[in-house]
Amino acid sequence: MSYTRGLPPNSTIGIVGGGQLGRMSALAAARLGYRCHILTPEQDSPAALVSAGVTLGDFEDPAALRSFAAAVDVITFEFENVSAEGLDLLASLKPVHPSPAVLRISQDRAVEKSFLNGIGVATAPWLPVNDMASLADAASRLGLPAILKTTRLGYDGKGQVMLGSDAALADGLDALEPKPLVLEGMVDFQCEISVIVARGADGAIAAFDAVENSHRDHILDMTYAPARITPEIAADAQAIARTVADALELVGLLAVEMFVTADGRVLVNEIAPRPHNSGHWTIDACPVSQFELHVRAIAGLPLPRATRHSDAVMKNLVGPEETALWPELLATPGLIPHLYGKAEARPGRKMGHVTRLFALGSLPGPFTVAAALGPLAPVTVA
Ligand code: AMP
Repeated sequence: MSYTRGLPPNSTIGIVGGGQLGRMSALAAARLGYRCHILTPEQDSPAALVSAGVTLGDFEDPAALRSFAAAVDVITFEFENVSAEGLDLLASLKPVHPSPAVLRISQDRAVEKSFLNGIGVATAPWLPVNDMASLADAASRLGLPAILKTTRLGYDGKGQVMLGSDAALADGLDALEPKPLVLEGMVDFQCEISVIVARGADGAIAAFDAVENSHRDHILDMTYAPARITPEIAADAQAIARTVADALELVGLLAVEMFVTADGRVLVNEIAPRPHNSGHWTIDACPVSQFELHVRAIAGLPLPRATRHSDAVMKNLVGPEETALWPELLATPGLIPHLYGKAEARPGRKMGHVTRLFALGSLPGPFTVAAALGPLAPVTVA
C-alpha cells in the first residue's frame, strides 16, 4: 500500500507522558493503524497499558529521551510539565508536534498572557509579581480580591491563592512556589467555557463548538456540550481559539479555556497544547474525537470538520467515592463508561469518566442532566 499524504500506517507515534490523555490518544491512533510508544517514569501507566511500547525513564534523562526517540517516527506530548529543553533534545532527533516553542508559551502563565495580549486576545487583567513591593503595587492597581498564581507548574487549582485584603498579601506571597508569580484581577464570570482546536502543518483548522465546564474542588467535574451561551459569544470563542492556533503556528491540538464575563465578553484563562479533559465527550458524541484530531494533526492526515452528532454531558469520576460507583454506572442504561486503568483511587485523582448523549439541540437543564447521570446524580447535585 502506498500513501500520498501523512505518516504511513504502522508507523510509531511517541507520546511523552503516560496519563489518561495519552491513553485515549493511543486508542485513537490504534484505530488509524498506528502504534504508540510511551515515555513515562511510571510502571503500568494508563497510556502504556494500551500501547505497543514504553520507555520507562525520567523526562529529563538524556539517555531515556534518546532511546525513546530512536523507537518512534513522530513525537507528541500529553502533559505540559515536561521540560522544554528535554523536548528540544527530542526535536533534534525526530519531528515534535506541537513544537517546543508552543510548549514554552503554555508552560508559563506570564509568557502565555503576554503572548495572548500581544495578539489582541483579552485575558483577566494581570501583573507580574516578584516580591512584596511588586505585589503591593499590583494589588493596588488591580484591586482586591484578586488571585495570586505561580507562573509555572500549576494545575487543578494548585499553585494559587485568593487574596481578599491587604493583610493577606504577605502570607500569599510566602505560600506560593516557585516564584515569580502573577496577580490576576477577579473575573465576574457567568460561566467557564473551552474550545478545542486542531491545526495541521498546512494551516487547516478544525474546532469543536464551545463547551461549558463546571468544577468541584478546583477539578473539572462536568462538561456540557454545547455551552449554554448566545450564538455571538460562541462565535467569539471560536474566533479566539482559531486566532491563537494560527498565531502559535500550532501543529497538533490546543484547548483554550475561557471565561464568559457577566457582561458577555470572552477572556482567555489559559491554553493547553494537548488533548483536554473538557474534550472527552467528543469520543462518544462526534464522528471524529479530539484524540483522533490530535493524531491526525501530528500525523499530517486530513482534518475533518469537528462536528458532533449528539449533544452530551461528561462527568468525571474523581477519587475513591465516585469510582466506587463503577458497578452501578455500568448497569445504568445510557451512560457510556470510561476507566483509565489506574491502580489506586486516591482523593482528587481522575480515575475515569462517563458520557451521556442527548439528541442534537436537546441538551436539558442541570437537574434533568443530574438525573440522567443515575448513581452520580446525588454527587452532582450536592
Ligand atoms: P486556573 O488554574 O488558572 O485554571 O484556575 C482554576 C480556576 O480558578 C478557574 O477554572 C476559575 O474557576 C478560577 N479562577 C482562576 N482565575 C480566575 C480569575 N482571574 N477570576 C475568577 N476566577 C478565576
